Amino acid sequence: MYDWGSHSTPRRNKTTAMADTLLLSMKRLAREKLGLKHKGQLVAQTERRLVENLRRVLPTIGYRLVPLPGVHLTGATANGARRVKRLQCPKCDRRFAHPLPLARHLSATHGVKKTAHKRGRKARKKPA
Ligand SMILES: [Zn+2]
Repeated sequence: MYDWGSHSTPRRNKTTAMADTLLLSMKRLAREKLGLKHKGQLVAQTERRLVENLRRVLPTIGYRLVPLPGVHLTGATANGARRVKRLQCPKCDRRFAHPLPLARHLSATHGVKKTAHKRGRKARKKPA
């Protein structure tokens, strides 16, 4: 389960309203879960979807889903709770969150081009 450290947000906009709605839905679901155990499976699915949505929306308005203490996410970096840019440029120290900007940086800064399409010149067996 998750707990979220929330603090008041300075602005109310569509995203905030959406998050509010999602949070309300979460609370309602929590109550439903207690009362309707036989619907547990379905509710769990919906909850998972809501958590996914919340994960996506909350960071944009200052909320953050925080794993409860004792729950260790494998693959999470030890320092820095925030999601970090994991792709490092092989030529320098710049880091990127996505392959695309990295490729663009490589091409623009280091003159490296993607050469994936140059393969397949010699004898690639095709299933006839
Ligand atoms: Zn670089």
